[in-house]
Amino acid sequence: MNLILLGPPGAGKGTQAKMICQKFNLCHLSTGDILRNEVSNGTDLGVLAKDVIDKGQLVSDDIIIKIIKSFLNENNNKFSGFLFDGFPRSLDQANKLNDLMKSINIVIHKVILLNVDQSVLLERIIQRKEVEGRKDDNKNVLESRLDVYLTQTQPLVDYYNDLNLLKKVDGTNEINQVNQDINTILEAA
Ligand code: AMP
Repeated sequence: MNLILLGPPGAGKGTQAKMICQKFNLCHLSTGDILRNEVSNGTDLGVLAKDVIDKGQLVSDDIIIKIIKSFLNENNNKFSGFLFDGFPRSLDQANKLNDLMKSINIVIHKVILLNVDQSVLLERIIQRKEVEGRKDDNKNVLESRLDVYLTQTQPLVDYYNDLNLLKKVDGTNEINQVNQDINTILEAA
């Protein structure tokens, strides 16, 4: 089973992704985590990506596709499938993902949208900053990340809905309730 987890910054994608991957033996592919890792290791890619991430903008598709390709190659056949978290983030990336998947003969089975009201997101991001210390978790950068989400990522909701893949979950509920709602969707045929 291959899944995409969609939702605005602060919706709880990372937390739910870990729970889903553990239960269904999926490989967690978080482009945000991979990029942060590159930044903290000071790699060439990390140096290129750092400013863009700190401003809450999107890293170039070339970099992202390179990351995805090598990740898929390294992990294909090791798990029961992939969970894409933070990718795709635009219609262009969704088309590139389609091409990539065709080339390795896999398909997306479901797209889970974590719906969370904007007013709740800021509160959550501020709390997360205290726990994880992410530099892009602050009010100004969040505004830019939300703006990028609304303009570039949100069109994917209609895109995957039209493909009959989209499943919506209320992400404002408590973590275990959200997880149960997701499990119900994934266990249904
Ligand atoms: P995230 O952890 O998913 O919120 O990602 C943190 C930051 O990494 C984003 O604000 C972007 O700057 C960058 N990023 C992560 N995934 C992507 C992607 N698929 N395309 C472009 N930039 C990304």
